[in-house]
Amino acid sequence: MQTSTTQSQNITGRLRQFAALFDPRRVMFEQMEPLLQGGTSTLVANGLIAVLIAAVVNSPEQRDIAFHWAAACLVVVLASGLVLKVVTRSFNTPHHVITASWMLTIASTLRGLIWGLGFVLLMPRADSYEQVMLGWVIAGLMCGGAFSSWSHPAAAMSFAGMVGVGGFIGMSGVPEVGETWMPYAIPVLFLFLLRAVHVSISVFRKSVLAEKELASKNSVIGLLLKDFEENASDWLWEADARGVLKRGADRFARVLEEPVDKLVHKSLPMLTEIHGLEDAGNGLFRAKFAAREAFTDHVLSFVADGLERYIKITAKPSFAPDGVLAGWHGVASDVTDERLADMKVRKLALFDTLTDLPNRSFFHDRLDDLQTGGRDVSCWVMYLDLDGFKAVNDTCGHAAGDQLLRAVASRLSSCLPAKGMLARLGGDEFAVICMGDRQRAESLAQKFVDALELPFLIGSHDIDIGVSIGIAELGRDLLGRDEWMRRADVALYAAKHQGRGHARFYDAEMDRAQLRKRHIEQALRKALAQDGLELHYQPIVDLKSGKVHAYEALLRLTTPDLGPISPADFIPVAEETGLIADIGAWVINKACSDAVRWPSDVCVAVNVSPLQLKSHRILAVVTEALATSGLLPHRLELELTETALIENVEHTTRILADLKALGVQLALDDFGTGYSSLAHLHQFNFDKIKIDRSFVQTFGDRRESTAVVNAVAHLARDLGITMTAEGVETKEHMAAMQELGIDHVQGYLLGRPEPQKVETHIQTPKSA
Ligand code: C2E
Ligand code: CA
Ligand code: CA
Repeated sequence: MQTSTTQSQNITGRLRQFAALFDPRRVMFEQMEPLLQGGTSTLVANGLIAVLIAAVVNSPEQRDIAFHWAAACLVVVLASGLVLKVVTRSFNTPHHVITASWMLTIASTLRGLIWGLGFVLLMPRADSYEQVMLGWVIAGLMCGGAFSSWSHPAAAMSFAGMVGVGGFIGMSGVPEVGETWMPYAIPVLFLFLLRAVHVSISVFRKSVLAEKELASKNSVIGLLLKDFEENASDWLWEADARGVLKRGADRFARVLEEPVDKLVHKSLPMLTEIHGLEDAGNGLFRAKFAAREAFTDHVLSFVADGLERYIKITAKPSFAPDGVLAGWHGVASDVTDERLADMKVRKLALFDTLTDLPNRSFFHDRLDDLQTGGRDVSCWVMYLDLDGFKAVNDTCGHAAGDQLLRAVASRLSSCLPAKGMLARLGGDEFAVICMGDRQRAESLAQKFVDALELPFLIGSHDIDIGVSIGIAELGRDLLGRDEWMRRADVALYAAKHQGRGHARFYDAEMDRAQLRKRHIEQALRKALAQDGLELHYQPIVDLKSGKVHAYEALLRLTTPDLGPISPADFIPVAEETGLIADIGAWVINKACSDAVRWPSDVCVAVNVSPLQLKSHRILAVVTEALATSGLLPHRLELELTETALIENVEHTTRILADLKALGVQLALDDFGTGYSSLAHLHQFNFDKIKIDRSFVQTFGDRRESTAVVNAVAHLARDLGITMTAEGVETKEHMAAMQELGIDHVQGYLLGRPEPQKVETHIQTPKSA
């Protein structure tokens, strides 16, 4: 506040000084200047002419007068010279201009007077030759006097006037001339000179005023600029054609913490080389400078005292009229503080705070750069997703999860080649950009997989996780970041599908599969909402009685676009999207309400997805379906696969026990394909095993299959568990199963899955 008041006082003070420039005394002072400069030569000319006149006069009495007159004239001229000297020495300031002006006017008048006196004395007695000479001298003195002193009209006209008056009197005294009009030429000449001096002086005054105005404007602008430069954060600079600073060097020096004299001989481009950081901004600046291109708000980066400094600079080249570069000028400002704050914010915006790795936004920027910039090697983007991370978070807590993520980041970083980039996209997702051919990308992916294969020690926990990786090439087809990321994601999905610790490259086939999945998902949602799902029933026949023991409900989905879709395709989609919960509930309800209309000794078998078992909802669904339909619980058989049993054993055991408590039957489906642990049979208290059709169909051909089926059949018989053989397609299959003493059979030979059309007795080939 204080400084700004003194600043404005400074400025008004200086402005007052400049207003004084327009004081009329100053203008008068300016007017006197030419008079003072030319004064001596005028006086010398005066003296010489006087001596010349005295010398050329012929008659003795004239000569005497002329001699005395010339002496008096020289005295007056010398006195005038003295006055001139005094004025030049002591009164040559605007302040004394009035006095000086009076002194000069009096001196001129006196000179004019002595000349006039000379003409009055000499003219009447002169011979005709002398008359002509004196006539010329009168005219010459009037003109010469007026013009030599034109800038001081009072002095000029008083001199010319005195000479003229003397000349007029003298001429009038000459008998032959006095009677003519000749003497009147003198006043006419005087008037002419008066007019000429008046015109000259007014032109002169105008030009002096204009000059003063310009000077004052420049000074005011200069003052304001100086003030601005000294106090503002921005400063003006000027440089010569090479870029050497002529102005503003002190401010550059202040930012660079260098003495000014170290800067003054160096060009700006040189400064960026000596004190600058080797970055693209400085390089671009030098290029623009060399190309003589104007630039705006370009940020130059320097190092001073080991710290980064930033100067924002705007520049314009100026050219001489012949097109030659004359120099540069512009504005600059110290933007170090803003820039550092900016960089801090940028770091926060571009890096992941947990792992210090670049974040998603940074990663995306890099991909965008790769899209626009040219490159001569192949580039790959990898999408990494940790296997089993969620379980760690759930069981060990978030703190351990964070620690694990940091450890993962450091292991992945250690595998990363120099030109690669590793980022954390969020959660347990990481991404990598790497260069090189396909083989290199593949081996890098393998390195990542191997690195995370080894257990992590977090706190007291030994944690086993893994990583699945999807890889996509950053093609030169300019598909762009989103498409590249999508492809890597599609490949990751395929990798995950393969199980833990796999890396897969994207291929177009994955896309088609993905697209089909999306269509299936849409069809499922629509079918669920619009009652478009259907159940087909396939008989399960009791081998001994030849009667249908049960019908297996098999879900069907048909769409106008995709036609009939196999459950093998749509069930996984329903499981992935979570739709299986609603679909499964619909199946159970529908199967129960259908079965209740069948003969009371025919059961209904319903497939239950492992995901349905994960929640408690299954209990409520089954209870409600039985209650609503009125189906007796023992007529409902739930078919489960072994995958349902291995995860979260405790929970599954409880759910299955609760289901059994309701009175429903439990069957272990697809036995032999999954984990095939006979222990499961005991542990979960199954009523039934269904041997997978792959065993049945290769029974007798493959020793393994034969052995498994034999063993399971014996065990089941010992445990009192009912056995069903799936996929009985031929009479041979049938015979083999009969021989083994299997209880129930199911397969195309006995009946295909069909819409509800229930027969209770099937003619088995044997009984036929
Ligand atoms: P699954 O439970 O093993 O069902 C038997 C499958 O074998 C059915 O296929 C059936 O059509 C087929 N099949 C029966 N007999 C023969 C035969 O003699 N030869 C051959 N080659 N195949 C035979 P589908 O209907 O395509 O069902 C496939 C799978 O989809 C089922 O296998 C089951 O795991 C699942 N699924 C079907 N409906 C549902 C459902 O409502 N819920 C759940 N969670 N899964 C279902
Ligand atoms: Ca089944
Ligand atoms: Ca099965």
